[in-house]
Amino acid sequence: MAAPVNAGNSAGTSGDTNLRQYRTTCPYCGVGCGVKAAMQGDGTVQISGDEQHPANRGKLCLKGQSLGETLNLSDRLLYPQVDGRQASWDHALDLVASEFQRCIEVHGPDSIAFYVSGQLLTEDYYAVNKFVKGYLGTANIDTNSRLCMASSVAGHKRAFGADTVPGCYDDLEQAEVVVLVGSNLAWCHPVLHVRLSEAQENNPAMQVVTVDPRATATSALSQLHLPVRPDSDTALFGGLLKWLVEHGVTDTDFINQNTSGFDSVLADINPLDVATVVQHTGLDASDITRFYELYAANERVVTVYSQGVNQSAGGTDKVNAIINCHLATGRIGTPGCGPFSVTGQPNAMGGRETGGLANMLTCHMDLDNPNHRRTVQEYWQSPRIAQQPGLKAVDLFKAIDAGQVKAVWIMATNPTVSMPDADFVKRALKRCDFVVQSDVVAENDTAHCAQVRLPAQAWGEKDGTVTNSERCISRQRRIMRPPEQTRPDWWAVSQVAARLGYPDSFTYQSPAEIFAEYAELSGVDNNGSRDFDISFYAGISERVYDDLDPFYWPAAKSVSAKPIRFFAKGGFFTPDKRGRFIVTTVVDNMDHGGLANGAGKTLHLNTGRVRDQWHTMTRTGQCHSLSTHTAEPFIEIHPYDAAEARIKSADLVDVSNALGRCVLRAIVTDRVAVGSVFVPMHWCAPYANAARIDTLVPSVTDPVSGQPALKHAAVVIAKAKNLQYGFAVSRSRPVDNGCRYYATARCDGGWRTEFAIDSEAHASSFITRMLQLSNTADRIAFTGPGQYRVAAFDGQQLQAACFVDTSPVRASREWLISALTERHQHIQSRHSLLAARAPAHERSAGKLVCTCFGVGEQQIIDTIVEQGCSTVADVGKSVCAGTNCGSCRGEISALLRATRSVPSPAGDPADDSCEKSVPDRPLQVA
Ligand code: SF4
Repeated sequence: MAAPVNAGNSAGTSGDTNLRQYRTTCPYCGVGCGVKAAMQGDGTVQISGDEQHPANRGKLCLKGQSLGETLNLSDRLLYPQVDGRQASWDHALDLVASEFQRCIEVHGPDSIAFYVSGQLLTEDYYAVNKFVKGYLGTANIDTNSRLCMASSVAGHKRAFGADTVPGCYDDLEQAEVVVLVGSNLAWCHPVLHVRLSEAQENNPAMQVVTVDPRATATSALSQLHLPVRPDSDTALFGGLLKWLVEHGVTDTDFINQNTSGFDSVLADINPLDVATVVQHTGLDASDITRFYELYAANERVVTVYSQGVNQSAGGTDKVNAIINCHLATGRIGTPGCGPFSVTGQPNAMGGRETGGLANMLTCHMDLDNPNHRRTVQEYWQSPRIAQQPGLKAVDLFKAIDAGQVKAVWIMATNPTVSMPDADFVKRALKRCDFVVQSDVVAENDTAHCAQVRLPAQAWGEKDGTVTNSERCISRQRRIMRPPEQTRPDWWAVSQVAARLGYPDSFTYQSPAEIFAEYAELSGVDNNGSRDFDISFYAGISERVYDDLDPFYWPAAKSVSAKPIRFFAKGGFFTPDKRGRFIVTTVVDNMDHGGLANGAGKTLHLNTGRVRDQWHTMTRTGQCHSLSTHTAEPFIEIHPYDAAEARIKSADLVDVSNALGRCVLRAIVTDRVAVGSVFVPMHWCAPYANAARIDTLVPSVTDPVSGQPALKHAAVVIAKAKNLQYGFAVSRSRPVDNGCRYYATARCDGGWRTEFAIDSEAHASSFITRMLQLSNTADRIAFTGPGQYRVAAFDGQQLQAACFVDTSPVRASREWLISALTERHQHIQSRHSLLAARAPAHERSAGKLVCTCFGVGEQQIIDTIVEQGCSTVADVGKSVCAGTNCGSCRGEISALLRATRSVPSPAGDPADDSCEKSVPDRPLQVA
């Protein structure tokens, strides 16, 4: 996909085409796909997958393909700000240094904290950790990776003695059974899922099992879906271990030679027979048995897990329950075998490696190990080294609220959206004496809390390395000249360090210098005692760093054969070199933070992600192609619970508990279980006015990892009352001037906005203000009982069209969006806009399913019926859908199932009803 580049901001363009091509890395999920970015002579950047990158071999999902759309200066923070006013870098950095100095002198180093991000590059991460732990002398630095994989880190360290991911992506293709636990791989790690799907097409005997309370795009493509009760995974895997033992499937040699603690675990899991597991998980005994038999019968098993495991008050135990089964069978470190944590962020692994978590030191060394502290301090020649772990994310913000932390520097993250109890976090930051924020965007929810804002460099501008989920380190390269006043984060940190008296320790002139130092330190006092060793690259030159190809760690200086997997023959990093079985605790009712709310039935809230958005939408929200699939926040409610609460699909729903309230669009679906609801976590203030769902999630954490249980809250739901519902398409961004509900998204040619206003409001004048319709616009309008419709034109161009009704607006949204980019010369064309649907002769393709090829739901249904398609591949052959990035394969699979069971899809083909049979679809109200 090509997109215009910042004016005058592309490197060396002169009118030729394909002037220069860069190999870089996608900044979104932990798959870490290689990207080719080709600068075009017309000022655009052509994005494609890097065939040479081992993670993706040329594939990209839609998020990666759309990166070119993010290379512009709209919404960017372009200069430093102090108290909301433009400032020089010197002034801003002097202020940061002087405030930090004052805090240290008056309150001590622990009165300062840093909250950083898996969006940082490794060189940024290394520099800031060195500064905080070695020079400020506090360990109060934590990362938003605490929210995504801290439980995996803790589980790895308990079992392996180090935070080691034993396997690699190839294992998913080489396995006979792949178990996906709490992982909607198809949407959250799409390219990895495509690799898995293709491997399955080549090996139809391969079995995929999904363990997820919710039916997802991933489960739609699996052979067995186990819809466990929330947090019952530990019981499921404890029961599996008991089954394996009783059926003689354990590897006695591996257990005896390479592990410890097996007997303790055996005693612990003894009660977990299948009947007991049924009680804990709510699964059918036959499904449990089928899963256990599959696991037992196949030697090559990979268990992939992500946020559904980690974001839990028992997350670390879940991780160890999974690892216990692999240790017991010796299925670890060999092709097609092993437990496999896949990370959410592009450089969550780099953060772990550089010591970005409050309880770690750089290069996988431990803060609580005096030898490691000495090694690091001597290497850095730093005046001090933090002596004990610092505050983990949730505790860090509590300490800010309590006034213990007086100054905080937030880098590349938006905690007032993503942290649990997000309103508490916002209040804490407002109370904090001094808040610094380094970011690329001019506006986000956290920006209003900061006194100092520092303009960072965005993807395409910054330069460094990242590590993906399989320990592959890749270059993220600068492909264009950064805006003049933006700076790398490592540079800003180094400047503050220099101002605090440490100029000689932060003399870095380039990321290559930082990487060279970091690589050297990884080998100091190592000799194979630590897993992380990239000392092969110690002292790397600028030129070699520039040309660096992706490589896997370990890459020790002294070892010529670099292993790609760990632990096949033991060699764990525990003191006795044995992998540890860990006794885990089976719980049924995880703590919801005591939020049971008086009015209404208490439901379990599960939060997660949608296919085409990323984190809090600061980057992906800019791309209209990424807003097509899911244009507004929503809540999935089981039909039984919806009927009890008298809620229908497309209604707006008040979702609340003692912490706060959100307003969300209802999708009534049996994808969720009775008693559970699901809400995506992305939506933030710039895109929706009442959808920050983490405001309702209590700050309950896993006691071992400190990771918040972001998938667990108690809420009540009620239909929002006394509303007029509205939908608008407009060329300009509408203004939320007091909507009860407001959710806007970019679309081709402008903005699409769902909204609701009070039933008493005067719709016509409200809309005029909201859409900022000019008096000179040529308008046509329709007023009916409870209805108001208006279309405004500027010459032949549609300026805006808006529809208000007492019930959810029925309109063909995709068709109305297309009207923004068309000419409307004739009165019939204008009047059909007020009808809100295409004329009969223009048949709609329906809601977009395959964004890559623009294939709609109705097209796919027609193809299935008319061509007799029975597989996703058949549909792909007919209309190409699902054959590029593959993110929509789960939806196509669900359409196949639904269409084959309902041969004649009912309803108006131009009707976008969300009540039709399409699973895993966001709301499109008809
Ligand atoms: Fe980026 Fe998609 Fe690859 Fe993830 S799967 S790294 S989001 S292209």
